Amino acid sequence: MILLVGNWKMAPNKDTEAINLAKKISLSAKAYKKSITTVVCAPAIHLPALIKNIKTNVCFGGQSVAPSEEIAQTGLINSAMLKGYGASHCIVGHSEVRARGENDEQILASTVSLLQKNITPIVCVGEKERDGHGWYLSSVKEQVEKVVLGVAKNQVKKLVFAYEPVWAIGKNAAREATVAESREMIMFIRKVIADITDEKTAKNINILYGGSVNEQNAPAFILEGGAQGLLVGRVSLDAKRFTSLMKALSMIS
Ligand code: PEP
Repeated sequence: MILLVGNWKMAPNKDTEAINLAKKISLSAKAYKKSITTVVCAPAIHLPALIKNIKTNVCFGGQSVAPSEEIAQTGLINSAMLKGYGASHCIVGHSEVRARGENDEQILASTVSLLQKNITPIVCVGEKERDGHGWYLSSVKEQVEKVVLGVAKNQVKKLVFAYEPVWAIGKNAAREATVAESREMIMFIRKVIADITDEKTAKNINILYGGSVNEQNAPAFILEGGAQGLLVGRVSLDAKRFTSLMKALSMIS
């Protein structure tokens, strides 16, 4: 089963637009549900309307969550609120949130908080840039280790990781990552997890690829890039293109 996660970031503006888009995605998700689990991580403000109006074929998730339910944080939502809405997943540690100052400590706390509420954390890791010496490997290693070492042993299997090279994300991406780059890093992340836990746990963890994924390159990231799923930004806001992407994925599984 392929895990396909859409990250809508700050769009759309209105509930009605969000519901229309999600209805279209839900129809496509229904057609491909034998091989694809579809999750839409929408702006939190739309989650109640989306979850109320779309009950099948698509799961909904948040895009970030406060590190704690106890300490008041202006502007943030907590895991209890996400649970209350009915969210099943939540992105944590997205590079755009890390760039605003969220650190590994807070990302771990958010992950723990989600696990306590039985919400699947999708933990984003990835280097800002690549160098010729492989130093970027240590930054990704640190991000993965912080979370895997910090959650309870029996909870590690509930984590989903998303490898998102920061340089390949969004409309200002330097370039697309190659499938070889994705494959190498996903293998590396799995090895880091195996070194802390065991091979079986590491083998069973879903690792997604994210960064300029589209309907053309999506199948290769799964077939040759080592990913069990994809985290998709821009294309998830275009129902036609997201449907083509699903169709392309359904043909390889
Ligand atoms: C993202 O922001 O997580 C992302 C993958 O965006 P895009 O697909 O637009 O590069």
